[in-house]
Amino acid sequence: MSRRSVRPRQVHVVGAGLAGLSAAVRLASRGLAVTVHEATHQAGGRCRSYYDSTLGLEIDNGNHLILSGNQAALSYLDLIDARAGLTGPSSASFPFIDLATGERWTLRANDGIIPWWLLDPARRVPGARLGEYLALAKLLRAKAGATIGETISCSGPLYARLIEPLLMSALNTEPRSGSAALAAAVIRETLAAGGRNYRPLIARNGLSNVFVAPALRYIAGHGGSVNYGRRLRRLTLGAERVSALDFGDTSIQLTSSDAIVLAVPPAVAGSLLPELSTPTESRAIVNAHFRVDPPAGLAPMIGVVNGMTQWLFAFPQRLSVTISAADDLLELSREDLAQRIWREVAVIANLPDAMPGWQIVRERRATFAAVPGEEAKRPGAETAWENLVLAGDWTRTGLPATIEGAIRSGATAAGLVAAL
Ligand SMILES: Cc1cc2nc3c(=O)[nH]c(=O)nc-3n(C[C@H](O)[C@H](O)[C@H](O)COP(=O)(O)OP(=O)(O)OC[C@H]3O[C@@H](n4cnc5c(N)ncnc54)[C@H](O)[C@@H]3O)c2cc1C
Repeated sequence: MSRRSVRPRQVHVVGAGLAGLSAAVRLASRGLAVTVHEATHQAGGRCRSYYDSTLGLEIDNGNHLILSGNQAALSYLDLIDARAGLTGPSSASFPFIDLATGERWTLRANDGIIPWWLLDPARRVPGARLGEYLALAKLLRAKAGATIGETISCSGPLYARLIEPLLMSALNTEPRSGSAALAAAVIRETLAAGGRNYRPLIARNGLSNVFVAPALRYIAGHGGSVNYGRRLRRLTLGAERVSALDFGDTSIQLTSSDAIVLAVPPAVAGSLLPELSTPTESRAIVNAHFRVDPPAGLAPMIGVVNGMTQWLFAFPQRLSVTISAADDLLELSREDLAQRIWREVAVIANLPDAMPGWQIVRERRATFAAVPGEEAKRPGAETAWENLVLAGDWTRTGLPATIEGAIRSGATAAGLVAAL
């Protein structure tokens, strides 16, 4: 009997963000022995919940939204039995407000692939012409390396009231300079695939409850383990294989059948593998949280045009605002930001001017910048070392840095390791 058949192959997953967890659960589901090593004392990386003592509430590090067409994310949630933790409308509907005019509307798509909802002025963006929607097809045929600004006209009601808000959040990059190829990938899998593929889905009771804790249970239930406070410092790189992992106080020698999934952020991967090309430019996301009960009837998520606020989310006991590509706001004081954002929230939600308890969370390097130059630097999952594969939202997934991209990258990495 071969050695391989008596001892399950050991896979070390470094980094317990969604990419690492996705790889770990897929590997565990195939019967491989999985050990996850996480530098911090909590799993989830950029997609996690924590107790905020200022608000006295458990909050998420950032409001996260996925769409019903995010197949990899949903299949991950199915594997760990957590899909029920997502909530969203039964069809693709997006309430919006324009803070400059006070207009409110709800975009309501039909489920099927033929977008007949566009023919109904009451369901589409007010003021937008049908021709503007049709022009979006140009994005799907964009030239490699082109920006969105080079591919479609970034003006007009449809752009200002739907395309800009949608792409700003999907790319976390000012869309004019954003990669047309990445925008096209998002549109192909969602808007162009019919309303049933872009129902918005939110982890109403916290990201960790849905995306993280069930994965940790799944790993433990399949004999795997997660080590916290384990920061990988160095990889011992041979000509063809990695032979050891060095965590400073401990090191692990790898046997000839052991493998590694390196699921750390791009700067960390670049320091561990100096020859590796990685995106280096990033964009910030600002979230503002206000401790207030959402007024009855307020939609769980509202798109905001012509404001500093981009999306308003209603959670139990809290209203939260997301502002993507927010690098310009990093220099403002937290108080100033909170005041300015609250003034808008009070209008949107019809609440008194007095600001309730608040928290501002600024993620300076929330995601890599989804511009063509950075897109070109993304490496594939395979490396020059046969037992080392990469995962992370910044690897070459074909998608911007999203939950879907991170989870897809983990599944890709797991597939490569399982095939070794
Ligand atoms: C504020 C905010 C809002 C967002 N909103 C959305 C959204 O609405 N929808 C969406 O789809 N996406 C959104 N995203 C993006 C999404 O969160 C990320 O794409 C995803 O979480 C990235 O997962 P990852 O595993 O690739 O990376 P990470 O989450 O960064 O995971 C990397 C892990 O590696 C660990 N690590 C680092 N160095 C080491 C080391 N040396 N040794 C061991 N471990 C190490 C880190 O601690 C971390 O746990 C948002 C991101 C932010 C920050």
